[in-house]
Amino acid sequence: MQDLLESPIEFLKGVGPQRGELLRKELGIGTFRDLLLHFPFRYIDRSRFHTARDLAAQVEEHSQVQLRGRIGQWRMVGEKQGRRMTATFTDATGSVELVWFKGLKWLQQSLKTGEEYIVFGRPGSFKGKVNMPHPELELAATWDQGLDAALQPVYSTTEKLAAKGLTSRAIWKLLKALLPQTSGLIPETLGQEHVQWLGGISREEAFRQVHAPLDAQQLELARRRLKFEELFFIQLALLKQKQLTQQSVRGHVFARVGERLNQFYAEQLPFELTGAQKRVVKEIRKDMADGRQMNRLLQGDVGSGKTLVGLLSMLIALDNGYQAALMAPTEILAQQHFATITRMLGDMPVVVRLLTGSTKQGERKSLLTALRMGEVHIIVGTHALLEDRVVFDRLGLVVIDEQHRFGVAQRARLWAKSEVPPHVLVMTATPIPRTLAMTIYGDLETSVIDELPPGRKPIRTVHRFDGARNAVFGFLEEEMEKGRQVYVVYPLIEESEKMDLKHVMDGFESLSRRFPLPRYAVGIVHGRMDHETKDYEMARFKKGETNVLVSTTVIEVGVDVPNASVMVIENAERFGLSQLHQLRGRVGRGAEQSYCILMTGDKLSQDARTRLATMVRTNDGFEIAEADLRLRGPGDLMGTQQSGIPQLRIADLVEDAELLASARQAAQRVLDEDPALQEPRHAPIARAMRERKDDVAWGRIS
Ligand code: ADP
Ligand code: MG
Repeated sequence: MQDLLESPIEFLKGVGPQRGELLRKELGIGTFRDLLLHFPFRYIDRSRFHTARDLAAQVEEHSQVQLRGRIGQWRMVGEKQGRRMTATFTDATGSVELVWFKGLKWLQQSLKTGEEYIVFGRPGSFKGKVNMPHPELELAATWDQGLDAALQPVYSTTEKLAAKGLTSRAIWKLLKALLPQTSGLIPETLGQEHVQWLGGISREEAFRQVHAPLDAQQLELARRRLKFEELFFIQLALLKQKQLTQQSVRGHVFARVGERLNQFYAEQLPFELTGAQKRVVKEIRKDMADGRQMNRLLQGDVGSGKTLVGLLSMLIALDNGYQAALMAPTEILAQQHFATITRMLGDMPVVVRLLTGSTKQGERKSLLTALRMGEVHIIVGTHALLEDRVVFDRLGLVVIDEQHRFGVAQRARLWAKSEVPPHVLVMTATPIPRTLAMTIYGDLETSVIDELPPGRKPIRTVHRFDGARNAVFGFLEEEMEKGRQVYVVYPLIEESEKMDLKHVMDGFESLSRRFPLPRYAVGIVHGRMDHETKDYEMARFKKGETNVLVSTTVIEVGVDVPNASVMVIENAERFGLSQLHQLRGRVGRGAEQSYCILMTGDKLSQDARTRLATMVRTNDGFEIAEADLRLRGPGDLMGTQQSGIPQLRIADLVEDAELLASARQAAQRVLDEDPALQEPRHAPIARAMRERKDDVAWGRIS
């Protein structure tokens, strides 16, 4: 019986081989079941009519509306590209101009002047008059007979499909034909208690209601039930995965807190750890001591002191007789970590070495030998650490900074460098919204540093238009006179690299003119320079020999110059939110009041405005991450490539955050009470799990 749902889509009445092939190619709908799972992305309330008058009052307010009235004589107007067909549509309250640019021939033949029509579409305005481009049309007489649902689902489709008649409406028709046949074939997948909690709506009923809702309330229940189910099974899979890893992957046992850690703490650490740092170190220590491999994500806003937590963790590894590696995404950052760590350790007997792409041949050779012999305790590096010739004596811990730049596969290579897999600590400075973290890293432990070191003054952020540049320069001068340093950052993307580089150079020149030698010095770094020049320029800025550093985003992550107190971001509208936040995090690292100045031209899109306003409003990385998620959606946020975000069919990580938390709790409880899903009350869940072949790709670290 169940097989009906597995039938190839072309066997559905009204589909056939040609459309079947298209559905498969365009929408991935290969079976009856796939069609059922093709959920509407919104609904139109067709029980509600607007009038021409209320549209005229506030055109902008309306998305899609329907009107009932009569169509007047059509006419052709305009020339060439602007050529179009129009007709006046009149109801009891006024009139609206209907406009068409395409499909004119067919319209001219079929449009019935003087007849009563229902028109449906998105209103706009042109020269002060309300219009409606390309409305859906239906004769009122037909409409009155055929009104079978007030709430009409809208399905995503493609141009190719629509050309073959598979419009949203046609897809709906297919579903309405399919639904009655599926009676009794859509088994429950949730436990009784869950169903009850969700308002008692069965799975079968839920499918019926989303595709052909009786009313808004039933629809809401159905959608909620299906969203919960989707999120529940993702969480169950992730938690199950976590359960398995914990049972099967053995890890080094770091039981000792020894000499090096204690000595560092007592003699070298120049400040107290923050409460959050202490808590996180404790979590990590406990994790590395319990005999299982640690897979932990460390989240903390820029400047929260993650590097130090990484270092303390590495010292624990050392105290237990193991080596540790710290991997950074860029050369500049690796060098900086190396310098910081070396400085912090002072004259402690710890051997720290640096390995990057530009490490000289001879040095590399001796380094690799020392590493293999176990003479190097901590190695800091870039991707170069992943190469096969990098062999450890006893690798116990890998700390990965700024995780989002490393692919999953690359991390796997590090893991392979040791028979017993090393503990893994991933530090990310791009806070991930809670809902995303739960979904992507649901099988990982998470630590959060939610506190900044004391004495930091919140950075003041302002938005200035290019016209105010003189005033901005004046402000920079004041700050420099106080001895502070300034970053000026320009966007640089591949597609417009030449132009972008020119802007950086122009900026450099005009700043050099405005802040001339010998009183001032302006430096420049960008990705197109060779390593030596870049390092030289960075070092000069760090030492305070340059007052202004003009750069591209090469300084985005991790660079730490406490005396720099002003960050100017040029063409700020071209940056994403998290990037802006990262850049801003380069200042505010010392005790001085710091500033971030977002420069833009006058023309800004709505999204850009929202981004800038968010930056001005808050310094909180988590809040910014949430806003970013809302603006861009989860795929973009993480970079679609290896994001590890499961494709969601109906749930939405932004809107359904609470439901997600409930789903995770429910999944956790099921596993706690019945780890193998053997109890009869969980039978539907167990069956559904077995049947999920499926599309869940969870982001795994290492
Ligand atoms: P991030 O989390 O962005 O990687 P860093 O590790 O670079 O932050 O730390 C930012 C700055 O704060 C560094 O200069 C570091 O020395 C300093 N710092 C870290 N922890 C503390 C602390 N507990 N008290 C004072 N300063 C600290
Ligand atoms: Mg850092």
